Order: sequence, then C-alpha cells, then structure tokens
Amino acid sequence: RLPTDLNLLADEYLRLAYHGLRAKNKSFNATLHTDFAPDLPLIEAVGPDVGRVLLNLFTNAFYAVQKRREQLPAQPDYVPTVTVTTRALPEGGVEVRVRDNGTGIPEAARQKIFQPFFTTKPAGEGTGLGLSLSYDIITKGHNGSLSLETEEGKGTEFIIELPD
Ligand code: ADP
Ligand code: MG
Repeated sequence: RLPTDLNLLADEYLRLAYHGLRAKNKSFNATLHTDFAPDLPLIEAVGPDVGRVLLNLFTNAFYAVQKRREQLPAQPDYVPTVTVTTRALPEGGVEVRVRDNGTGIPEAARQKIFQPFFTTKPAGEGTGLGLSLSYDIITKGHNGSLSLETEEGKGTEFIIELPD
C-alpha cells in the first residue's frame, strides 16, 4: 500500500487498454476523453490492484461502444466515446468515473454483473471475473465503493470511490 496518484494510474491503463485493443483489432476505434482533477490527493492504495480494476472497466467500456457500433451500422454519426474523470471528494478520498456511450446494461443483467463468471461475451472473449474481482479489490481491499449508472441504448458509468 503506497501513496498513489490515480490520475497517473488511470492515464497509463487507459492507454494500455486502448492500444492493446487496437493492436488486436485494427477496426477498433474510440474517442478518449479525460478530465483529471489537477489537485487530486494521493491515496493509500495497492497500485497494481487498482490498475487491474481500471483496466477491466476500460476494457468493458471499449467493448460496449464497439458492440453498440456493430448494432447500429446505419448510424454514421455515432462516435464511440469513453470518458474518464477524477475528482477529490469533499469528504476526503478520490472518485474515478468511467463513462461510455455503449450498449448500456439491461435490467435483468444488472443484478448479475458483479457475480463471478457472469458474462454476456462469447466464449474466449470474457471470463466474467472482471467486475467480481474489481468489486472485491475496491470494497474489501481498499474500503471503497464501486457503483454504476446505466441506461440501455445510451451507455454506462462506473463510479469508484476510494478513501485516502
Ligand atoms: P467480462 O468482461 O469478462 O464479461 P466483467 O465481470 O468485466 O466480465 O463484466 C460482466 C458483464 O457485465 C459483461 O459481460 C457485460 O455484459 C456487462 N458489462 C460490464 N461493463 C459493461 C459496460 N460498460 N457496458 C455494457 N455492459 C457491461
Ligand atoms: Mg471485463
């Protein structure tokens, strides 16, 4: 557990996820937006663990925008976009938001996404372990919270809160 700059961590893993996916799939493309608070306090964290959470949230977001684009081939003005925001919380600690304008999550799946092995991805593309591990890392491992807002056909936002 070390003082960790979540801006640096998020930036690094966002690029890693994006370029990794582009290397695997030449037709993958997305617009990245970042809005990193310049005065973000360092938090005591296990960097590689929180990095793994971010990597999974980013990968999920990229997958969701890619899937939405495949569902809407007739909408040329759809711009697949992933937005990452950080801010210091007034009560202390830090918040990271990962927003996508992808498929959104249907009501029936919403109850299950944090369960181990729940996935809607084809075999070989998802293990269904990402969000379950992420939830444990953030809540049990860091005393934080992981929540989401989602709307089908509009997109999804995951919100990480970590105490300092
Ligand atoms: P995996 O990515 O291996 O499927 P996760 O635990 O990371 O496993 O996610 C579980 C499921 O939650 C996904 O298969 C998908 O159905 C849904 N999901 C997660 N993030 C998003 C997102 N940003 N947009 C739409 N669906 C999502
Ligand atoms: Mg995943």
